[in-house]
Amino acid sequence: MKRLISRYLLATTVIGNMTLFFLARKFGWNLELAVLLGALGSFAAAWGLERVLPHERRWLGKGADIAVDLTSAVVVVAIVDPLLKFAGPVLAVAVWRMFGGGSALADWLAAQAFVPQLLAVVMLSELGRYWAHRWHHTLGWLWKLHALHHSSERLYALNNFRFHPLNYLNNFLLGVFPLMLLGVPADVMLGYLALSQPVLMLQHANLDLRSGWLNYVFSTNEVHRWHHSSTPSEANRNYGYTLVLWDHVFGTFHYLPCDNAPRRIGLFAENSDYPASGSYLTQLTQAFKPGCCRLYG
Ligand SMILES: [Zn+2]
Repeated sequence: MKRLISRYLLATTVIGNMTLFFLARKFGWNLELAVLLGALGSFAAAWGLERVLPHERRWLGKGADIAVDLTSAVVVVAIVDPLLKFAGPVLAVAVWRMFGGGSALADWLAAQAFVPQLLAVVMLSELGRYWAHRWHHTLGWLWKLHALHHSSERLYALNNFRFHPLNYLNNFLLGVFPLMLLGVPADVMLGYLALSQPVLMLQHANLDLRSGWLNYVFSTNEVHRWHHSSTPSEANRNYGYTLVLWDHVFGTFHYLPCDNAPRRIGLFAENSDYPASGSYLTQLTQAFKPGCCRLYG
């Protein structure tokens, strides 16, 4: 049974979420609710199975970091994300009015059927998110914000929500806002969420998954584990959000078919003065303190 879970959990959750989404679309059910239920189910599977099939037993249990992750989850899910979803369309309309609205790409997109639209949106948003993430690793002022996400010294399901609100805003501006500017319909946006949520919910999970060839397509926990290595040459890889498509294109993909277990997880040696075990507020404000946080190398 454990072998089946290890091999097929990712595929099952992705197919399950997409099936639920397309059924909801076909029968006129509430699409937002379908995506939310799929995401909650994926998170519950990740959280529950960590006790059954852990990648690292020492990462189980209640570390002090759980308070940071839970606080961050509340801030991101209950405050930052709803604010952005409200402000994004308002800002997009303002930009349309300022520049006259419309573009050749928006017109082309609007003329396509649902599935080609969805594929185009996935590739476009993933490209924006890839560069948002890569710049947060290579530009000092952005690394100050992103250090909070990398300060955890273990990987488990809740790490998925550990983001500085300004880091989250930047990801939104490069990954989601362009879609709003293009006037992408809500059901296409929700289709992208139905695809991305199961991958994201499993991405940081402390699960011994062996997803095989899917590691070359999705940003799985096996692939993403390298991204959290405390060794810069391993960590500055695999920037992909849902897919690793742009990592392949820009030469930052890293995956070993046999052993994807970095020696240590956490910040680089150059960031040893970062308060990795501090409270959420301490880490939140650390980004604005002089000297924080040095880039590696
Ligand atoms: Zn990162």
